[in-house]
Amino acid sequence: MKVGVPKEIKNHEYRVGLTPPSVAELVAAGHEVIVETSAGGGIDFEDQDYVDVGARIAPDAKSVFAEADMIVKVKEPQPSEIAMLEPRHILFTYLHLAASQPLTEGLLKSGATCIAYETVTGAKGGLPLLKPMSEVAGRMSVQVGAHYLEKEQGGRGVLLGGVPGVAPARVAILGGGISGVNAAQMAVGMRADVTIYDINNERLAELDMFFSSQIKTAYASKAAVEAAVAKAHLVIGAVLVPGAAAPKLVTRDMLKTMKRGSVLVDIAIDQGGCFETSTPTTHDDPVYEIDGVTHYCVANMPGAVARTSAFALNNATLPFVLKIANMGAEDAMRADPHLAAGLNTSDGKIRYKAVADAFGMEY
Ligand code: NAD
Repeated sequence: MKVGVPKEIKNHEYRVGLTPPSVAELVAAGHEVIVETSAGGGIDFEDQDYVDVGARIAPDAKSVFAEADMIVKVKEPQPSEIAMLEPRHILFTYLHLAASQPLTEGLLKSGATCIAYETVTGAKGGLPLLKPMSEVAGRMSVQVGAHYLEKEQGGRGVLLGGVPGVAPARVAILGGGISGVNAAQMAVGMRADVTIYDINNERLAELDMFFSSQIKTAYASKAAVEAAVAKAHLVIGAVLVPGAAAPKLVTRDMLKTMKRGSVLVDIAIDQGGCFETSTPTTHDDPVYEIDGVTHYCVANMPGAVARTSAFALNNATLPFVLKIANMGAEDAMRADPHLAAGLNTSDGKIRYKAVADAFGMEY
């Protein structure tokens, strides 16, 4: 199959659909890969790195779309890209269609087979192509939290791990799923005093076994969260109720009980945020302050560590890219129901119920 990799054109997107090691795997399997010039430039891959593993460089996106059967990207296609999609194309990328009717209508009009990373399912449950980004955001949350606790950043002037003779900072992690666990691993590594709050008792038991005495766990009752917030230096919001807006666990009133210069990192901001005072921010201007508490609410945290994120995403997507390239989209989806769960549109029709429901469209 001819696989095309255009350069990402969404603002501040530096990742790339296929890294050179992924291209090498496709070429070894007998496929042709066409990469737009400077597609990997944002994360320091030169065109030559792609040529070295057998890819061909195209001068622009138009040439990539004209030649390729499958387009592998990171972000949802922008209007100029939608205009180049044809019924013969397979598009494999993050789509988040329920968030945009114009995008959905554009893909329907194109007639292309559009498979969304975020709805591909895993054999053990979960969403394997979203997981790596939650891992990145979770790990990053502690790094940014530690940074904004510094005095010069408007923070309390507290070192996360303390020093001999001085107690470490208290870190409260709300939600012990993928991002929460990854946050806890970093916070433990930095020797902070870590407690994870969740409402899933089975999950709390797993975390207790996994971390042993390195962390504490607590049921996320309103009272427990209230007490946690009042004494924490860093609160990380990592909750998820699938398909719903994040519950507002930390109210405006609770904020008043917090220490001046403490920090809130709301990873769940892409689902509306789990702090009442959260509003989305960007990497250009990531924080704001309310009641002396720093809020970090960047909706695409992985973008800041685009190189790590691109490799992590490729690790998760490559097996599916290979499967589609080897078998063709139809046979690959017939053989793998988890990949089939990724199908969002094809032949001008919506193939994913939640997307149809979001716009009252036919499914
Ligand atoms: P997950 O499903 O693995 O974990 C969520 C956890 O929250 C679960 O353990 C669940 O039991 C718990 N939970 C649900 N309701 C709760 C409540 N009321 N109190 C306490 N715990 C509760 O989810 P995840 O993959 O860790 O993702 C978390 C959030 O981070 C999602 O909204 C995801 O979209 C978002 N995310 C954001 C970024 C970013 O850049 N900001 C990046 C990746 C993921």
